[in-house]
Amino acid sequence: MNLLPTESTKSMIQESIIRWFDANGRDLPWRTTSDPYEVLIAEMLLRRTTATAVARIYSAFIRRFERPERLARARVRTIASMVGTLGLQNLRARHLQQTAAHIVKEFKGSIPDTMEGLVNLPGVGVYVASAVLNFAFCRPSPLVDGNTIHLLSRLFELEFAGPADRNAWDFIASFELGGQNKAFYWGIIDLVAMVCLRRVPRCEICPLHEPCIWRHKNKPAFKTG
Ligand code: SF4
Repeated sequence: MNLLPTESTKSMIQESIIRWFDANGRDLPWRTTSDPYEVLIAEMLLRRTTATAVARIYSAFIRRFERPERLARARVRTIASMVGTLGLQNLRARHLQQTAAHIVKEFKGSIPDTMEGLVNLPGVGVYVASAVLNFAFCRPSPLVDGNTIHLLSRLFELEFAGPADRNAWDFIASFELGGQNKAFYWGIIDLVAMVCLRRVPRCEICPLHEPCIWRHKNKPAFKTG
């Protein structure tokens, strides 16, 4: 594993990601709401699929199941038919229905605002819980998935065992995000989706090309004009 970057390098990278996101981030329907239920549904739908696939069904799903009470009363097969294009529809539908039922029964229809309350919901792991804390409750909470690992390994040549590696969570928690946690984490997600592509990264348009170790070692040709 490479040496950990200095605080000033981290701070410069953090600012670059946030600035890039403000100018280039994707407009996705779940990013215009901070309603905790709508954010939770989005994050549950986004597991193991793409934002593009979720964007196609998200608004219709929220219209149909606008509150947890409606989702809790729905049949699993009805929910599965709405999320069929995302894959894993039966498991996903069961988790959505069980989570809604749990929220209605244990929290009177309100989404819990603590890590402990969120991770106890059926089908909600640390990533989804942390995403809800960041994107609905505006609480900075470390957020690591395969995208984060991918970007960190290219940028800093850091090696992590995977998204469950505690060291990765500790490292991302060491960024001092203040109130800019949403732009930082959405920026990482969008950079990997749009710029730091796994097969052929688009280093020539990347806001991080100066500090990126992978770019310096591999020296991909920069297009001009
Ligand atoms: S410079 Fe290239 S490899 Fe490095 S983070 Fe940007 S797109 Fe990825």
